[in-house]
Amino acid sequence: MTHEEQIIERLKAEQMLSVGELNCLLTTKDTETVERLRAEARMAAQSVYGKQIYIRGLIEFTNYCKNDCYYCGIRRGNACAERYRLTEEQILSCCATGYELGFRTFVLQGGEDPYFTDERICDLVSAIKRAHPDCAVTLSIGEKERASYQAYFDAGADRYLLRHETADAVHYGKLHPEEMSLKNRMRCLRDLKEIGYQTGCGFMVGTPFQTTEMLADELAFLTQFKPHMAGIGPFLPHRDTPFKDFGGGSVQTTLKMLALSRLLCPEILLPATTALGTAAAGGRERGILAGANVVMPNLSPASCREKYSIYDNKLNMGAESSEGLAELAARMKKIGRVLATCRGDSLVKN
Ligand code: SAH
Repeated sequence: MTHEEQIIERLKAEQMLSVGELNCLLTTKDTETVERLRAEARMAAQSVYGKQIYIRGLIEFTNYCKNDCYYCGIRRGNACAERYRLTEEQILSCCATGYELGFRTFVLQGGEDPYFTDERICDLVSAIKRAHPDCAVTLSIGEKERASYQAYFDAGADRYLLRHETADAVHYGKLHPEEMSLKNRMRCLRDLKEIGYQTGCGFMVGTPFQTTEMLADELAFLTQFKPHMAGIGPFLPHRDTPFKDFGGGSVQTTLKMLALSRLLCPEILLPATTALGTAAAGGRERGILAGANVVMPNLSPASCREKYSIYDNKLNMGAESSEGLAELAARMKKIGRVLATCRGDSLVKN
């Protein structure tokens, strides 16, 4: 057995890698090893979730944000961003359209927009649950107090996505202004899990200043925190941010991190992210073939999609969008997968 084969065997037994071993997998030029890793990861995904790919209707309902994350195109400091927020009526109409198309999960994602007070979020969540009691509602609206998370949960929210962005506190400080901290982000994630949400964390691959040690820490964090889901996608620069001159994250590294996450946490839900689809042709399919099992087509009204620009050239049409669901289904069929019309709950136990 080669050294690489030994590492893959250990991964199959859900054993954590050393930094050296991760480095070996991340730098290998051996196409056989790379293909082996992906094949093991997709087999692991299939043994838990079968051939089904879960879909979530993504509604980007506001791009106002009080935060100033250095990587993000909708940061408050970006005066070029054209701001919008959807009304409750518009959001409900997105859900109704989505429901007809077969979506049974709606993800409300947005900047941290003070207009959406806890009361407004709770009203929104309960209105969606009233209209579609058989659907799951996921919130992705950033860092809040525990009491707020509890209120949204009591109003009916089922899941919450809050990527930690990086598990390294010093690195976190290089990606965010001083008023933000990894400590608070982690506090949020713990609160969410304790309250009873199906909780998603996640990180970007290839953010400025990221090292292999940090990627090893990401994997260790996933195995310790045991999230129900993890969003993992390449960093992509946005022209009106402080990180505009940095290169984007590597597609190959992202695919390897997906595969490793799947092997170390077999029950986790892993979306093939829009960023991955944007970074490479067929990126979403390649993500699925490396162990991902979720896609999140855009349900937002077409007129505001351009404005939810967190990085340059973000895909929002064709198979990325709800109108393109037939196209997405056809693409999945080509790689031997089927889109599932169910809530698609995580099999990670709390
Ligand atoms: N305000 C919410 C939603 C943020 S947008 C929150 O704080 O959770 C969702 C995700 O997009 C972010 O968590 C981040 O990981 C990702 N993102 C933002 N800017 C990006 C960029 N330039 N490249 C790649 N991903 C980015």
